[in-house]
Amino acid sequence: MLFDSHAHAHFNAFRHDSDEVIKRSLAAKVEMLLVGTQLDTSSAAATTAERYAGVWAAIGLHPIHTTLGYFDPNEENGAPSGDGFQRRAEHFDSDRYRAIAAASDKVVAIGEVGLDYYRLEGSPSEQTAVREKQQEVFQQQIELAADLNLPLCIHCRDAHDDVYRMLKSAQQRRGDRVRGVIHCFTGTEAEAEKHLSLGFSISFSGIITFSGQWDAFIRRTPLERLLVETDCPYLTPVPHRGKRNEPAYVAYTAAHLAKIKGLSFDEVGSITAKNAKRLFGIEA
Ligand SMILES: [Zn+2]
Repeated sequence: MLFDSHAHAHFNAFRHDSDEVIKRSLAAKVEMLLVGTQLDTSSAAATTAERYAGVWAAIGLHPIHTTLGYFDPNEENGAPSGDGFQRRAEHFDSDRYRAIAAASDKVVAIGEVGLDYYRLEGSPSEQTAVREKQQEVFQQQIELAADLNLPLCIHCRDAHDDVYRMLKSAQQRRGDRVRGVIHCFTGTEAEAEKHLSLGFSISFSGIITFSGQWDAFIRRTPLERLLVETDCPYLTPVPHRGKRNEPAYVAYTAAHLAKIKGLSFDEVGSITAKNAKRLFGIEA
């Protein structure tokens, strides 16, 4: 049993075969969390999750969708696997996200939300405005997660100090209603340790199959604190790099994690699945 803790199998890249991809994953004993990035993909995550046992949903507004710009997935860690698109600047409307959560028991997390300072566009003052906008929307969604008592799926790129600071201050006010996972972790070991100190889990994607940068951290971190994910259609693991990623491929990441930790594949699969289900409050 495996759990892909961060999948977008309901995105455009799967518009012709989303159902087959999800069924193929479930047949391979891979359950999954479908993650939204704005209102439409959040709503689609929830309605898709409603149709399958073993599929759950996270809803939220991704930091890159708080401002206008162009997103080219081919820039994402050298794994070409989707079409580029024009980002929309969505105004965060908490009530509309609350309505999606209220309509479905399958909504088990708020995400993906967070901060992304990677390659900010514009002048220094425009960049400051983008960072401030992202922080404002992230703060609103931390409060939403605490109000609904749901864990956060956090996207963080080149912004670990600010994410840590905001989570820590939210925890001081709202206690363990502020909890969750840092998805597709790509920061430093010191940054990972700070998130762990707040009780957050760390999730690794297929990137660990082609970069040894986090091996030492993985080796010394208790498996109970780690999750695995695909972030499909992006970040395809070895040996499928260059092709579209899908939830079933989380097995390659789990196998690699098992190799690093010197554990069996089954052990890593079942413990990381349990970790995900505990965090998302899903019956194991
Ligand atoms: Zn994602």
